[in-house]
This record gives sequence, structure tokens and C-alpha cells, in this order.
Amino acid sequence: DLHPVRRALLSVSDKTGLVELGEALAKRGVELLSTGGTAKALRDAGLEVKDVAEVTGFPEMMDGRVKTLHPMVHGGLLALRDDAAHSAAMEQHGIGAIDLLVVNLYPFEATVAKGAGYDECIENIDIGGPAMIRAAAKNHRYVNVVVDVEDYGALLEQLDANDGATTTAFRQKLALTAYARTAAYDAAVSTWLAGALEDTAPRRRAFAGTLAQTLRYGENPHQKAAFYRDRSDRPGVASAVQHQGKELSYNNINDTDAAFELVSEFLPKDGPACAIIKHANPCGVARGKTLIDAYTRAFDCDRTSAFGGIVALNLKLDEQTAEEIVKIFTEVVIAPGADDAAKAVFARKKNLRLLTTDGLANPAEAGTMLRQVSGGFLVQDKDNGRLSLDDLKVVTKRAPSDEEMADMLFAWRVAKHVKSNAIVYAKDGATVGVGAGQMSRVDSTRIAARKAQDMAEAVGLPEVPTKGSVVASDAFFPFPDGLLTAAEAGATAVIQPGGSMRDDEVIAAADEAGLAMVFTGMRHFRH
Ligand code: 5GP
Repeated sequence: DLHPVRRALLSVSDKTGLVELGEALAKRGVELLSTGGTAKALRDAGLEVKDVAEVTGFPEMMDGRVKTLHPMVHGGLLALRDDAAHSAAMEQHGIGAIDLLVVNLYPFEATVAKGAGYDECIENIDIGGPAMIRAAAKNHRYVNVVVDVEDYGALLEQLDANDGATTTAFRQKLALTAYARTAAYDAAVSTWLAGALEDTAPRRRAFAGTLAQTLRYGENPHQKAAFYRDRSDRPGVASAVQHQGKELSYNNINDTDAAFELVSEFLPKDGPACAIIKHANPCGVARGKTLIDAYTRAFDCDRTSAFGGIVALNLKLDEQTAEEIVKIFTEVVIAPGADDAAKAVFARKKNLRLLTTDGLANPAEAGTMLRQVSGGFLVQDKDNGRLSLDDLKVVTKRAPSDEEMADMLFAWRVAKHVKSNAIVYAKDGATVGVGAGQMSRVDSTRIAARKAQDMAEAVGLPEVPTKGSVVASDAFFPFPDGLLTAAEAGATAVIQPGGSMRDDEVIAAADEAGLAMVFTGMRHFRH
């Protein structure tokens, strides 16, 4: 199963390590063929190279769109060496076998990432490269295909170990890498095109990401894991700069994403806001007069759970807030920037990870969400629903006060980021109780109220924080019981989608309890 490497075609956009590879191959007696820029680089280094144009009898044309797409190249890659008819065809047309293909593609992903325009992205779709890679990979019984600069060393080791030949097992592994590369490349094109056409609705498209980082482990230590990036232009955990602290873990990335997406609901122009996340759910969210005020009020919602949490801020981190944050153990802090003084405070806590972003995420922006189920993927539009006061419909006899309205909208925006069944009590622009992830809505309502009660007892507050609060529910109350539980806890106003078969019953119960209630007409399930 050993096949000698006598003739190689090199055509690379990324010329890293090219000359060294060319020299190493030439030294082992391998004949080199190359396309324009690659041939020039090799020749400049004093190596003997034959131009592909000479082999095909055609010049490279149409701005490089057509260089290697020719039977002299593809015949040399695809011919079965041991097949009489293939050999006869090679002989008849003067096609020379190509035993090694070294290609890396036009930098399509990098071109998209730097924000290039439509036409520039189109020009960076490599055609001849993937065609050759797929041909060589198909014919891996004879042909070696290298698509990654990092594999140059392994190729040379293989040649040295086998007297200028390679094993089938080696060529098979190269073929696997090659098809993974062309598949990811085309998926990147498909992903980009879906975005460029602003067509994010699920359609016949492929999904791609670029390996950003292999992680120490996944959700648990016995699970292997990696992080793939599919966009680098959106502010968020994938594009954030890490200033200090240990490498982010799988759970850190997931929770930091949840924290940042949540805090991004609160625009800086509307004042400081802070979200503290544990296990992808908020344990405290608040606005404040200052950033430290927002942080403290978020922390006060559930001081116990905030320990070891992820903190997201909607404004540049300042020194005072940093001083307050380091008083307890926090895993990650993410903010659209940090003062030098704040950074200096964090520098004392070596393990604390500080991430800064270029602005906030846009909660109303369209996007696509993927989730894996066994045997497939679910694809849906991102939940970019965002209501304003005008969208709320009062359904009770009592209309909410302006303060209640403002708190309801706040609680509603938080509830969007809480796992269902989600119940959020809020007062004066801060959550006072969060109930998440319960199978029954009444349970979420009770748990949130009880947590508020626990907090009041622990801190010695004169009254339960849910007294005089508003309550948001991510989906309708199917029965009056959940709503009445909230009223018992002291809530005075309710925001919920409405749309239950028993809306009349629920509204009547609200009226009887003296509650004000608004319907949003929009649901925010999150599972
Ligand atoms: P060079 O720098 O050698 O001029 O070009 C190398 C690049 O051209 C490689 O990224 C390779 O994948 C790509 N390439 C090779 N043949 C063709 C072709 O026929 N059409 C297109 N569009 N790209 C090609």
C-alpha cells in the first residue's frame, strides 16, 4: 500500500511554510508544478518549478477564476494508476500523474470576517482549489492531498519513514481532512449568502463554523468539547477580548453568552444595567443610577446564587464597580470595555476572567439558532421579539400606573432570557424574584416568591421584596392559580402574553384581586 511521491502540484493562498516545503520536496527528487503566485514564490527562492499553464497549454485567465480546471490537471489527479484504460487515456493525452496536491483555499472566511462587500466575497470563493482537493481526496488510493499548513511536517516525516512514499492509512487521513475542509468551506459560503440576502429564515442552507478553540472539556469533565465561531462581527462572547483569568470553559462560554445577551436588552442610553447569571438563568438583573448601583441591586435579588456567577454590564466597567464585584467569587465579567483603574482592581484576582466587547449585541437583530436533537438539528429564527410600551394591551379594570408599566416592560425583557416556565418579579427596575425552568408555571411563581422571602429573612428586610412588585410570565397563565399565587406574594400588576382558553377566567380573577394586567400578544418560551 505504499505509493511513491514523484510529482506534486502546489497551489496555495497562504504561503506560510511554502518555500521550506518546496525545498524539502525538491531535495527528495519530487517534481514541482504550481499556479502563478505559488510558482513565483518558489522560483524566487531558487527552486525549479513548472507552471500549470505550461502543463494545460492555457494561460491562467479571468482574474484567476480559471487556472487549474483542465483535464491535464484533473486527469493527473483522478486516474487509477493500475487501470489499463485509465493508463491508456493518460498516455494518449500525455497526462502526467500527480501524486501530491498541496492546496489551501482563497481566504473566504477571513474575507467575510473583515466585513468585505458582496463582490469581494464572491471573488474570494475558490473554485479550482476545492475541485482539485475533492478529486485528489477521492483518489486517495494513490494521491496525497494536504490542505493545512500544519500538516506539512507530518507529510515530510511520512516520506522519510517510507523512502519517499506514503501509506494508504496516511492518505486516508489526509482525504478525511480534505473533505472536512471543502464541506466547511461551502457551508461558510452558504451561511454568508443566507446572511447577505437577509434570508435567515430556515431554508435549504448549510451551517458552518470555524474551530475557534478546543476546550478543556465539555459540560462535564468526561466530555470532549470545542468552540466554533460562525461570526466575528457581532459583539458577544465569541468576539470578546479576554484580558485576564483562566481559559474560558464550556459552561463559562454558555453562561457568558446568556449574560451578555440579557444585559444587551438594556440600552446604555437608558442608563446602567447589570445581569448576573448562574447556569444560564439570571439570578439578578437590575438597572441603577450608576453601574455600581445596578450591580448591587442585581446582587441583592439573590445573594446566595450570585456566588460563582457571571456578571454582564451594559456600560464600561469602572473602578468602583470592579471593587464591589471582587468582594465575592465571580467566574466571568463581561462588559463593553473596562477602565484601566477597573482592570487594575481585577489584576489582584488572577482567576477572574474579564472580557470586553465592542459594544452591545442588538436584541432586535435577526439571526438563526441551531439546536441538536438526536439524529438532526432544529433550526429557527432567533427570538428577537422586542416590545415597547405601546404594544401592551391593558385587559383589567384597573390600568397600571406608569411605574408598574415601566417595571412590567423591564420584567418582560428579563423573562425572555429565563428558561421556561419563566416567572420574574420586579420592582423599581430590579428583579426581586426569578423562577426558572419548572415544569409547572405555578411552581415557578411559588419558587420565585419563596426565594424573595428567603432573601428578606437572610438580610433582615422589613418586608418581602415581592410586596408591591410586578410579575412577568413568559407564556400565558392557563388557570388563575399562578396569578393568584403572585397576588398573594404581593404583586400588584401582571404582564403575560394572553391567549389562553381561560383568559376570561384569569382576567376576572385579576380584577377580583385588584391586579392590573397587560397582554403582550407575544410569547417568550426558552428551553
Ligand atoms: P496562486 O497564489 O498560486 O496564484 O493561487 C493559489 C490559489 O488559487 C489557491 O488558493 C488555489 O486554491 C486557487 N486555485 C487554483 N486553481 C484555481 C482555479 O482554477 N480557479 C480558482 N478560482 N482558484 C484556483
